[in-house]
Amino acid sequence: MNITATHINYYHVCHRKLWLFTNGITLEHTSDLVAEGKLIGENSYPQRAEKYTEIEIGGSKIDFYDAKNKVIHEIKKSGSMEDAHEWQVKYYIWLLAQNNVTGVTGIIEYPKLRQTKSISFSDSDRVYLQLCIEQINTIIHNPVCPQLLNSSICKRCSYYEFCYSSE
Ligand code: SF4
Repeated sequence: MNITATHINYYHVCHRKLWLFTNGITLEHTSDLVAEGKLIGENSYPQRAEKYTEIEIGGSKIDFYDAKNKVIHEIKKSGSMEDAHEWQVKYYIWLLAQNNVTGVTGIIEYPKLRQTKSISFSDSDRVYLQLCIEQINTIIHNPVCPQLLNSSICKRCSYYEFCYSSE
């Protein structure tokens, strides 16, 4: 199975979410949230299509890549899970480097917060991501679904009802 940026993101949010997603449990409003995120991008930056390229790489999709300046722009609807966002963008940079596109950096944009975060990539990031991929493979191939996270982030998760409806 191809590990994608979504796996990297979910690994940093919740191992149970990673497992549910990978094992085919998707909920209707999961795709609504993705659509909402994309809509925020399109509405906030209507001129983007002219300036940026959409790239599909290793099963992941980079929505806004500035090929001229070698910058990935990732738009997020909130600033609440920045570690996951950061590693998602670092993973994109790593994928590009594996395809001989080097020297890429990233910018995460939070239009609702009017903030941006610059992302660079180091050798230790590469080592860490390799470790993440090993751990992701262990989690998703385990027949047992990981425990509930019982965190405040659960209320914002698309799996919330699925996870807590029987409690
Ligand atoms: S609701 Fe909580 S435990 Fe369930 S998948 Fe989402 S983050 Fe994980």
